[in-house]
Amino acid sequence: MKALVYNGPCDVQVKEVPDAKIEKPTDVLVRITTTNICGSDLHMYEGRTSMESGRILGHENMGEVIEVGKAVDRVKVGDMVCLPFNIGCGFCENCERGLSGFCLTANPGTAGAAYGFAGMGPYSGGQAELLRVPYADYNCLVLPDDAQEKENDYVMLSDIFPTGYHATELAGMRPGDSVVVYGAGPVGLMATMSAYLKGASRVFVVDTHKDRLKLAEKMGGIAIDDTEQGGVQQILDLTDGKGADCGCECVGYQCCDKHGKEVPNLTMNNLVQTVKATGGIGVVGVFLPQDPGAKDELAKEGKLAFDFGQLWLKGQRIATGQANVKAYNRHLAKLIQAGRAKPSTIISHELALDEAPKGYEQFDKRTAGWTKVVLKPGK
Ligand code: NAD
Ligand code: ZN
Repeated sequence: MKALVYNGPCDVQVKEVPDAKIEKPTDVLVRITTTNICGSDLHMYEGRTSMESGRILGHENMGEVIEVGKAVDRVKVGDMVCLPFNIGCGFCENCERGLSGFCLTANPGTAGAAYGFAGMGPYSGGQAELLRVPYADYNCLVLPDDAQEKENDYVMLSDIFPTGYHATELAGMRPGDSVVVYGAGPVGLMATMSAYLKGASRVFVVDTHKDRLKLAEKMGGIAIDDTEQGGVQQILDLTDGKGADCGCECVGYQCCDKHGKEVPNLTMNNLVQTVKATGGIGVVGVFLPQDPGAKDELAKEGKLAFDFGQLWLKGQRIATGQANVKAYNRHLAKLIQAGRAKPSTIISHELALDEAPKGYEQFDKRTAGWTKVVLKPGK
């Protein structure tokens, strides 16, 4: 089969590799019809993770089931399925509680497994023609009849739509709240969409990329252009000096200042300033326990110079981590089916799998107009 393989920093290649196949009776094999490039792939692409060369990337996957293992009960050949980026077993202590992002079985010794992901187990990614799906009865979201017609919407249930939603949940957002979202990348845009679906009164969206801020505005967001780093003051001015009711971090450890220089504590400290006293902060942007490629000495050890005193004084709460996609995907699918949510609006490019290296290069540069890339291995 053809697959997108990570060769090393900023070097990915589409090549022939052995076909994915059923390895355990609880697996299914999926013919991938859509697979996305994610901001999380960029951390790996840039060589800023422990990703091993030779591995297939891709954790935002959807397709048609073409073979089922002997122990698979529910999922059938021909089903159109969307796969959560997390691989859960369904029977461990964490999966049982809905914390499928922290499965204790799928990646022994760690909490959490995923397809084509640094530090998340040996599983191959789905930027390929075929994907092996473990614990398939638990992991497959079987899609309704309009799966093909709304494919570009449903594929967002693999990660960024539930992740954006999770950010608002971690922040403790309630109807009527004002929300500040850092990052107008795909995840920040999905947090914005989710906040409005949940009844937010106002959503402030902070970024420096004008094309992305425009998309945020289309969703009803209030664009805060931080190009000159006046964003914090703008948000305080718009909230009577108090800050928003809650906030979402949708950027991660590679967040930048106005010069494009990485300042890993910037968004977290800005959140402390721009969320009200007693407000919640949900952090879905990725932070790593080690970042040897960082310029900052603390960040190399996964540490931040964080304004903990301010946070304490303001009585704020923080919650973090990978999104438990399964906790939300079925409900969010119903919003797509009913026409109440259209996450595909953020897609800027639909490419063949062969064109994936170009997609990575442009998305990584955040070239204007490259917001979200979906790949179509069948085309
Ligand atoms: P992205 O890189 O396309 O978007 C990040 C955006 O943040 C960019 O538009 C960038 O301009 C902006 N940004 C940079 N510095 C900023 C700053 N100081 N203030 C405000 N905005 C700033 O990526 P994405 O796909 O949207 O993903 C965002 C983050 O979410 C990544 O860290 C990704 O790994 C993570 N993620 C986490 C989960 C999870 O389950 N927790 C799932 C998916 C993605
Ligand atoms: Zn992703």
